[in-house]
Amino acid sequence: MVRSDSAGNGGDAMKEHCGVLAIYSMENRPVAERIVKGLAALQHRGQESWGIAVPGEPILKGLGLIGQGADANAKKILSFTSNRGIGHVRYSTRGRTTLENAHPLDIRGEFAIAQNGTIANTEDLESVVEKEFPILGSTTDTKLAGYRLLQHYRAEHDWTRAFHKLSKELSGSYSFVMITHDGEVLAARDEAGYRPLCLGYDPDTDTHIVASESCALTALHADLVRDVQPGELVSLTKDGLKITKFAAASRHYHCPFEYTYFGHPSSKIDDHYVYNARRKLGRVLARKYPFKADVVIPVPDSARPAALGYSEESGIPMEEGLMKDRYRRKGSLRSFIEPTAKSREEIVREIITIKPVVDGKDVIVVDDSIVRGTSSRNIVQSLRDAGAKKVYMVVTFPPIRHPCYMGIDFPTREELLANKADGETLNVTDLNSKVAREIGVDGLGYNDINGLSEGIGLGKDEMCFACVTGEYLGLKKDPVLRTREEMKA
Ligand code: SF4
Repeated sequence: MVRSDSAGNGGDAMKEHCGVLAIYSMENRPVAERIVKGLAALQHRGQESWGIAVPGEPILKGLGLIGQGADANAKKILSFTSNRGIGHVRYSTRGRTTLENAHPLDIRGEFAIAQNGTIANTEDLESVVEKEFPILGSTTDTKLAGYRLLQHYRAEHDWTRAFHKLSKELSGSYSFVMITHDGEVLAARDEAGYRPLCLGYDPDTDTHIVASESCALTALHADLVRDVQPGELVSLTKDGLKITKFAAASRHYHCPFEYTYFGHPSSKIDDHYVYNARRKLGRVLARKYPFKADVVIPVPDSARPAALGYSEESGIPMEEGLMKDRYRRKGSLRSFIEPTAKSREEIVREIITIKPVVDGKDVIVVDDSIVRGTSSRNIVQSLRDAGAKKVYMVVTFPPIRHPCYMGIDFPTREELLANKADGETLNVTDLNSKVAREIGVDGLGYNDINGLSEGIGLGKDEMCFACVTGEYLGLKKDPVLRTREEMKA
């Protein structure tokens, strides 16, 4: 039986984003330590909390990083003897980071579930779930989806059919991993394929692994078998691996932000390496925006391959002009996924300028995105403080003008710099000038959708651009646009 350590139903309706992992050892070897190792490799996808569910044990959860949590719970984790289990690392779109909201979540002792993604139409699920389970009250989107899945499973007695029914009701993105009370491990990816999910295998230990990204497979010395295709359900039991199709879509909506920022550079997502995509995006930007300067520098860490690409294409040398101070408290964390503006700024402050690289020089800064503009403004200022003469910036992701309802945290329009700069009505050239003034650079070059497609290698008809265009084509219904206050209510 899988049950939770935590009491209650969680907090207000929150969106979940994160890294998921599932492991099944066919040789009956304990997997808890490997879950910890795999989650550590997915840590870039969420640093606020972690959780592990194995059969026969309460769900183990903690706040903060999995490495610290595993150290503090080493004895307990080493006592887990199960040959299968699931794990999760999380970041939230709201300020609240609570143990109750950490995944995996227990669904009435029937299964534990963890998600990467966001269900955009929770209001449609609430009434139908609460009719049967009035104890729920307000809850997370994952918990609502889990309870709805339980209802379908009880009616269908078959997971593929249950997911088929659920998929018709859910609007949004999800990559789920689950472990049932009788020990079946399941993983499902929504039919649009917003968030990544891949399948791996370690032949030395006859172990199947499902993970958000292939970097977790690498850490576990397993081979990448293939991506879990959108609409597929992976089932792992003592009889082995079974894959079924529970839903199909007319086209896919892979998220390009996974390639420019979110994914690990070593990962291969939907058949394209993140590192290669970033490097090529830099080349695309160099052709599109041939700024004249002395040096190209990346904003660490995501933009490094793109800066290399820009440098290769332009012939301008690349140097490390900005460095994260890994020895200070927040140096190694990622600013975008920090929940508050204050904590984001703390991270930026702990990016150190290397004076001899930029002093007296014209500098091209390569960044992955401009969301709120906070980080960019501070970085530009610190470069000027260090003596940079001219500062140009090129950005691998196009102007983000609209919120994402499919799993990335830029939830409301008023937070988006491109939108504040009247982005919706301006063409990219005018927007470049306006945002350049906002963040204090001498020239700015945003990528566009064509450049994104060229750099990543996926067709424009295979990706989502809703945060760029405002057209939520991959959702089954139009999202409810909420203000920041409503999001927090
Ligand atoms: S809206 Fe933007 S961030 Fe969200 S899934 Fe689509 S492309 Fe990715």
